[in-house]
Amino acid sequence: MKPYSFCPICGASLSNASIDGRERMYCPLCKWVHYINPLPVAIAFAVNSNNELLVVRRAHEPAFNEWALPGGFLEAGEEPHDGCLRELMEETSLSGKVERLIGLYHREVELYGSLLVVAYMVRVDHEEISLNHELFDAGFYPRELMPPIRIPLHNRIISDADSL
Ligand SMILES: [Zn+2]
Repeated sequence: MKPYSFCPICGASLSNASIDGRERMYCPLCKWVHYINPLPVAIAFAVNSNNELLVVRRAHEPAFNEWALPGGFLEAGEEPHDGCLRELMEETSLSGKVERLIGLYHREVELYGSLLVVAYMVRVDHEEISLNHELFDAGFYPRELMPPIRIPLHNRIISDADSL
């Protein structure tokens, strides 16, 4: 993520200083401080009635062409579990119910910076998948036949969900 060079409030050039224990950009004129907060992301650990897991092959960065769990950014004003189901619906046309929270995680991604990831277990109520432009492929797999997932956080979510 590219840092600001100019103050978004008054347009002055920003300076660097240690503020509240971290190096931060701030505006020497109006005293605006660029606090950088993580972006919230919801991930769906979505299973069918046979407990097969939905994995998707991503058609966009980050992790282009990698197998992953579906998910995406929460919208302002949206409940996290609703955002999780919305992302699942947008990417695959699958609907379902959130059964439980699996966990909360932090991830650092070059493209977006710091992410706060909320992972939910979702039980889908049908299996007719229709892919949107964000995916190359998607399917339900028993764990032993699942394509390899190389995103460390997604493997962690799978192992946390399996040990709940
Ligand atoms: Zn300023």
